[in-house]
Amino acid sequence: MAADNVLIAGGGIGGLVLALTLHQIGVPCIVFESAREPKALGVGINLQPNAVRELEELGIGEQELDRIGIPAREWALVGLNGKQIYSEPRGKLAGYRWHQYALHRGALYLLLHRKVIERLGAGAVKLGHRVGGYRNEADGSVTALVESADGATHKFNGTLLIGADGIHSAVRAQMHPDQPPIHWGGTIMWRGTARAVPIRTGSSFVGLGTNRHRVVLYPISHPDEDGLADINWIAEKTYDTDHNWSKTGWFRPVEIAEFAHEFRDFVYDWLDLPTLLANSEVAYENPMIDRDPVSTWVDGPVALIGDAAHPMYPTGSNGASQAIIDARIIGRMMIRHGVTPAALAAYDGQLCRPIGQVAMRNRGAGPFGLLDMVEERCGGAFESIDDVIPAEERTAFMLAYQQAAGFARSELNAAAPTIPAGAKVAKGRYDSAA
Ligand SMILES: Cc1cc2nc3c(=O)[nH]c(=O)nc-3n(C[C@H](O)[C@H](O)[C@H](O)COP(=O)(O)OP(=O)(O)OC[C@H]3O[C@@H](n4cnc5c(N)ncnc54)[C@H](O)[C@@H]3O)c2cc1C
Repeated sequence: MAADNVLIAGGGIGGLVLALTLHQIGVPCIVFESAREPKALGVGINLQPNAVRELEELGIGEQELDRIGIPAREWALVGLNGKQIYSEPRGKLAGYRWHQYALHRGALYLLLHRKVIERLGAGAVKLGHRVGGYRNEADGSVTALVESADGATHKFNGTLLIGADGIHSAVRAQMHPDQPPIHWGGTIMWRGTARAVPIRTGSSFVGLGTNRHRVVLYPISHPDEDGLADINWIAEKTYDTDHNWSKTGWFRPVEIAEFAHEFRDFVYDWLDLPTLLANSEVAYENPMIDRDPVSTWVDGPVALIGDAAHPMYPTGSNGASQAIIDARIIGRMMIRHGVTPAALAAYDGQLCRPIGQVAMRNRGAGPFGLLDMVEERCGGAFESIDDVIPAEERTAFMLAYQQAAGFARSELNAAAPTIPAGAKVAKGRYDSAA
């Protein structure tokens, strides 16, 4: 029989939050991470209030999040003509009990990694260890097949294995060998950050342009004494799907000059995008990709979380948030069902179908769908948005998205904690018959 432990493939945002959650409820675990060293990779991401709540309940509160990011105050869409299409307050300003945070993905990753080492010990994360696959054993346990950076292969036996190994998940590939290849709808994103004075509220998420040609901007740091903050930008253009994207890879560093000409007309009296791009130190190119939803995230003692389970377009700013929620729901189900396949099945039953639908909503533009409506109804030319999409229709559209993604305000504010304070998995509830 397996040792009482959970194996986690992938020490990104989801895998590390799962490790902290398991530690909180008294379940031993070990994380295998293919990267050889912890590095602050990526650029900006958003944490929705539902995910911020979970971090707070893990003891990672506003003080720490304020050091690596900034509470978002507003979410707004602006047409190519520079006129506002939609805006709503965010986080506590919108009446949530928790902030929404905009922060650097790499800084969040390093914070979570440090917390795991502090709480679980230095041996809890095995860096330079890639999980290549798994074997479900006759006794109900699971063996992870792991390759270390020196090329050696290892077998680790555990009670459960959680695949938190991201969009190119090896665990998912074994669980769903017939899954279609990665899906790309034609959009290329160029991402980076630049020091500049934040626009609008000082902490606004702004989507500007059309659904096929737009830029998203938001600050991910508090301003310094000169009023300058790190502004995260994502410049996006949609091409025909025969455009040769696969050569460009994932987070390929690029020169600004390679794509800046596509955005030279994005100049307004409140924004000079070409100058912002020119002031950026780094830029990355990545295709906007996802995968078709699968029918289950579980294979006996093995489950998928985060991007391994539901890779989605970033249009809803909820990839990292959902990875955190997945980890917390697994913890809740372990309190109810023990460290057992039954806990994983309950997690799957609660989230697999609805979150697959969120991923499909994001593929269909997610909350940016309002930009499509503007294009369809008036080709982008309008004086007052009320003549194109009445205010009630705009509000109803956004509420439907928030409900589907699990961060509708009243439901979240009223919900009991995912994991009650002090709850632990009862000893002896580790075996699959529990
Ligand atoms: C380097 C990097 C940079 C990113 N930058 C951004 C960004 O700027 N903006 C944004 O919106 N999203 C970014 N993302 C994606 C974002 O982090 C995820 O969408 C989201 O946080 C969900 O988290 P996750 O834990 O499921 O996946 P990820 O955060 O992708 O973590 C997966 C982890 O698994 C590891 N891994 C992969 N395969 C294996 C394997 N076979 N065995 C062991 N370990 C494995 C990876 O190294 C990674 O650490 C980035 C992801 C990565 C890996």
